Amino acid sequence: MPSTITQLPDLIAALPPRERERAERLFEIEVSEGIIEPPAEMAPWIEQTFGAVEAARRQRIIRIMNRWTFEGATFNSLRAQRPGAGTTTSGPAADPPELRERIERAQGDDFCHPETGTPADTFGRVRGAHCITAANVAKADGWHGLAIFDRHDPLALDEPLIADFLATALEWASRAHAQDPAARHLMLFWNCLWRAGASLIHGHAQMTLSHGMAHARVEQQRAAAARYRAETGGDYFADLAATLDALGLRGFTTDGATAYASLTPVKEGEVILLAPGARIEEASARLAAPLWAVLRAATQDMGVRAFNVGLYGPPLGGDPAWDGFPLVARLVDRGAPLSPTSDIAALELFGSSVISADPFEVVEVLRRR
Ligand SMILES: [Zn+2]
Repeated sequence: MPSTITQLPDLIAALPPRERERAERLFEIEVSEGIIEPPAEMAPWIEQTFGAVEAARRQRIIRIMNRWTFEGATFNSLRAQRPGAGTTTSGPAADPPELRERIERAQGDDFCHPETGTPADTFGRVRGAHCITAANVAKADGWHGLAIFDRHDPLALDEPLIADFLATALEWASRAHAQDPAARHLMLFWNCLWRAGASLIHGHAQMTLSHGMAHARVEQQRAAAARYRAETGGDYFADLAATLDALGLRGFTTDGATAYASLTPVKEGEVILLAPGARIEEASARLAAPLWAVLRAATQDMGVRAFNVGLYGPPLGGDPAWDGFPLVARLVDRGAPLSPTSDIAALELFGSSVISADPFEVVEVLRRR
């Protein structure tokens, strides 16, 4: 029988001593019980929503904190059943007609004719087999490009598209870097649908190439790994991977990249791909197949429609200060695209993420891929 997140303290306690110490070095875990005393008048609603009054009366809450990055998540499976919770990890279902209608209504947008509808970079455009680059019209960094897909439907995904996006983005970075050698921190990111922050529906992903420091949360991970090395002598990313593996949260390994379900997901259903020792220049060779496998698991098996992907690694050309930092890709589910309630609120911004999807269910889906 598969584990659940509420069993995590027992799973860690059952590890061999060295693995248990490693897990405890990485994660702080707190289990608490929340008790409610509902009036009799609420019983029918609670039964209908949560199955039984007793299931809601005593709730098991588990808080997990990464002691090094200070990423933290609070799990309560009951929250998935709240009205308007809008999570999609419960499984695939037929798309609501309104979702298809909104995508179709946007046909003919500027990304349907990118050569006349979007600006180019100073070096021109990179033309891949399935996407073409543009300069973002309102940039989030000195170099901020788009990879606009050759199809309007943002959910019409396949492996050749993913492979071509990665290859095209790397070529874009290489041309920008040739013009501006101090720009070397590449981040690839992808917002699918308005619910995930996309301002245009047409399928597209984005790239930034930064001077100085990488993006804030990337630097936060690098600092965590440096502190881990200084205080424990260990390799943070290797120990994180080994711990997730020991706890049964490793999904699959392809092309030297391994997919894990995160124990401290930033939002629902987070999957992390780690390719240790890979350079960012190898993103296309190393991550195309595993990233497609993750996207397929998310969109076809879990029914994810709105999602965010981020991909980063050591700077272009390498840097000894980034030794040990792997190539990383992450995906999160942003919930039901038509839900009127945002999935990001004050706790996510100022506290910890509040999560319904169980990482042990996420990894089961990954394993089937
Ligand atoms: Zn379009």
